[in-house]
Amino acid sequence: MKIELNIIPMGDIDDDIIEVLKQKLKERNFLVRVYAKTELPKTSLNEYRKQYNADIIIDTLRNLKGTIIAITDADLYTDKLSYIFSTVEYDGPALISTYRLDPEYYQEKPNFNLLIERLVKEIIYSTGRIKGLEDCQHPKCLMHKITCVKDIDFEEMDFCKECKINNALKGVNL
Ligand SMILES: [Zn+2]
Repeated sequence: MKIELNIIPMGDIDDDIIEVLKQKLKERNFLVRVYAKTELPKTSLNEYRKQYNADIIIDTLRNLKGTIIAITDADLYTDKLSYIFSTVEYDGPALISTYRLDPEYYQEKPNFNLLIERLVKEIIYSTGRIKGLEDCQHPKCLMHKITCVKDIDFEEMDFCKECKINNALKGVNL
């Protein structure tokens, strides 16, 4: 059975990114619906930090039905962490930022394909967490929790053996 994903573009996210992501996810057998682009809640902006509070944004997504993956270009933080790549809750929404996944953030040359690959990995990881999969210790596994872009680039576009078994047991067809 295909997994239904509801993608919510937020902030000034590039339409091209969303369009290519949609294609890539369809190739991986997801059923993808893209919502109209929405603004980030004004209350989530911290003017001093020039960052957006992910907890406040996530709160605005909770009432939406289905598997919700919001994607924004904004730099995110939480009350506990000075920056995050993404945040996700079991059975709840996920929020992913392109800001620190973009090679240009690290003064590297533009690399659209690498950005898309990182986003696809983050989306699959987030969907796994929404569906009840746990973080995995194997650094090459898609369910490995990343702390930097090196971590995500080291991952393969696949699950480790244990996670594949777990997916099957939970009936998650990722
Ligand atoms: Zn694993």
